[in-house]
Amino acid sequence: MFKKILIANRGEIALRIIWACRELGIQTVAVYSTADADSLHVKFADEDVCIGPPRSSDSYLKVGAVIAAAEITDADAIHPGYGFLAESAHFAEVCEACRIKFIGPGPNVIRLMGDKARARETMLAAGVPILPGSRGSMSDEKEAMRLAAKVGYPVIVKAAAGGGGRGMRVVPSPDDLAAAISAARSEAKAAFGVPDVYIEKYLRNPRHIEFQVLGDSFGNVVHLGERECSIQRRHQKVLEESPSTALNPKLRRRMAEAALKVARSVGYQNAGTVEFLLDEEGRFYFIEMNTRIQVEHPVTEMVTGIDLIKEQIKIAAGESLAFRQEDILPVGHSIECRINAEDPESFVPSPGKITTFHLPGGPGVRVDTVAHSECAIPPYYDSMIAKLITRGNNRMEAISRMRRSLDVMVVEGIRTNIPLQRRILRDPDFIRGNLHTGYLDRLLERKEPAAVAS
Ligand code: ADP
Repeated sequence: MFKKILIANRGEIALRIIWACRELGIQTVAVYSTADADSLHVKFADEDVCIGPPRSSDSYLKVGAVIAAAEITDADAIHPGYGFLAESAHFAEVCEACRIKFIGPGPNVIRLMGDKARARETMLAAGVPILPGSRGSMSDEKEAMRLAAKVGYPVIVKAAAGGGGRGMRVVPSPDDLAAAISAARSEAKAAFGVPDVYIEKYLRNPRHIEFQVLGDSFGNVVHLGERECSIQRRHQKVLEESPSTALNPKLRRRMAEAALKVARSVGYQNAGTVEFLLDEEGRFYFIEMNTRIQVEHPVTEMVTGIDLIKEQIKIAAGESLAFRQEDILPVGHSIECRINAEDPESFVPSPGKITTFHLPGGPGVRVDTVAHSECAIPPYYDSMIAKLITRGNNRMEAISRMRRSLDVMVVEGIRTNIPLQRRILRDPDFIRGNLHTGYLDRLLERKEPAAVAS
């Protein structure tokens, strides 16, 4: 087992990884930018190294600085968390070359899945259903027109290197295609450094359902059930739950088999997530695989009782999975609300100093956060400041625990999306499990009932 792990991340996920290391008796090294000097992830790590100024490109994304910190502290492994360098094949390669274990899959798998157009091709060859669309990335405009006509409008133009909902354009008709491709290309180039885009059939009102998988270095691959992530704003998840109300045992089995096929077809090692869109007729399609831990991993932990971060570390250390598929028996229901520092109506980020911070507690409630009273939320990073997670013996109990938790959670000094989450938790469609990726836009179009606004 590793003696010391460096955590190449910040915020709640860095702290979450520290807790897992403590339970495993592993020393931890935090890295931080000058904007995060007072962060709890720095305070609770055994050692810490400042790796640069606030901007991510000068600190958390700086491969040389992170590797130097690992060398100086003699860390034998690096956990990348999510975001930043988590899906950088180059970073995983540098770790390998420096004989530091990267806690995640190998660089080749990261590179393959990081090119979503290539990943589509690979899955098609493996017999996993994908949406009709381009083979590989699309460069020629005439060919794009031909292909989109064949697939049928609406189509969606997506960045091959995309992530976080960026670099995507829905195209309702042929007139909009050329402009959409050029906009998506420049957005992709700016955000990811790669302009490649591909075309896919656009589904109206699908559900986003993803499966958690774990693979060890002995070829064992298991899945830990699904997460329903259809509540999104601008293709970004806002609330997630497990299990999904949309799956019956048969559909769940079929989707899980497809997820395992995806993982096996690339010899997947470590934790990964296979994302699908599910249409209204119950047909599902692979959209991408994320080769890292996900923000929403806690809902899976809450229903399976499996600590995914500890599993990631054990797998990277060369241990075999301690359980088989038949040992994984999800129980109950779990919901996660992302608490963001943003205006609940305009969604404009709201960084600043938190004056009062009060967390809910009691049975079935978990909060993953580094925020606290008097802490500053820097403006340089993602606006998520906490994850509020509940578990119940059934969905209704998870919902009522989430409602009472949101009602007593206090964050003063900055604005948050707590009012929006409270509204979702009381919405009849949400309660019925009547969800799709357009759900939140629809909810926001309706005027907020006064009773909930107060
Ligand atoms: P990212 O890597 O940026 O997260 P994804 O490919 O995972 O991008 O898609 C994110 C979200 O965008 C999906 O959950 C869904 O809401 C929407 N989306 C992506 N592809 C399609 C599609 N073909 N049809 C309809 N919605 C889509």
